Amino acid sequence: MAPSWSHDPHTVLKFRTGDQVADIDTDSSPGFTGGRADADAVLADRSERFAELQEMLYANGKSGGDHRSILLVLQGMDTAGKGGIVKHVVGAGNPMGIRYTAFGVPTEEERSHHYLWRIRKALPPGGYIGVFDRSHYEDVLVVRVHNLVPPDAWEKRYDEINSFERDLVDSGTTLVKVAMFVSLDEQKRRLAERLERPDKYWKYNPGDVEERKLWPAYQDAYQAVLDRTSTDYAPWFVVPCDKKWYSRLAVTELLIRALKGLEMSWPPADFDVEAEKRKLSDS
Ligand code: ADP
Repeated sequence: MAPSWSHDPHTVLKFRTGDQVADIDTDSSPGFTGGRADADAVLADRSERFAELQEMLYANGKSGGDHRSILLVLQGMDTAGKGGIVKHVVGAGNPMGIRYTAFGVPTEEERSHHYLWRIRKALPPGGYIGVFDRSHYEDVLVVRVHNLVPPDAWEKRYDEINSFERDLVDSGTTLVKVAMFVSLDEQKRRLAERLERPDKYWKYNPGDVEERKLWPAYQDAYQAVLDRTSTDYAPWFVVPCDKKWYSRLAVTELLIRALKGLEMSWPPADFDVEAEKRKLSDS
């Protein structure tokens, strides 16, 4: 476990049967012994570790034929900080080995297919970290809250998602599913900030204010997601996000842990190193 943590985030943030969304303290920083003042230095240090391991995954995919991959699934209400995780956590890695996909309202083409069609197309190849900014879970979140399909249609999706993820894990993908929670008040503050800053207008969507009225329905939908799709092979991690510095540190640790779980080393040379050295010096 990294210094500055009294409890491994992998343990302390993992969803447990019975945990209630309504009880999440979104302003807390579970397992972290420091505070905001320590966060920058710890993040810088741990980001380096993340970057090293991520490059090792890429190197193994490239030259070692390693087919394994990691898929980071980011779900959360607007302003929870998904973009910040992408920029500040994943952004510390080498873009060469990252496959980022944002899932918005399905296009006409996407709607003509099964909801997992666009998800399958975006899965990371061996050696890559895939990042899903929203995901197949929208099909049991926004879709459920807004009745975009009848209940008997979305109801079946939980089991379907579990078996889809089971297959993914069996084929060598480690899932890191992160559910990001902000409070309704903190969301209001962040939306207000977007309205005050021209450099943040692009993040503001008038529809987000309407969605605030549906907060309880979203809480219920998130509860169902956690209850029904947190499995031993693909658990959810519940990350309090009122403190951005905390959520970034936590997700960095979750990714490091997933990468370390692959027990990699640098791929050996597939050429005679000494012979190459001689050839090079003679050239
Ligand atoms: P973000 O809000 O993440 O910055 P967008 O402005 O593109 O990105 O918003 C994405 C929107 O697409 C969200 O409101 C989300 O609920 C919606 N969305 C994503 N997936 C689906 C889906 N399968 N069905 C309907 N709406 C979806």
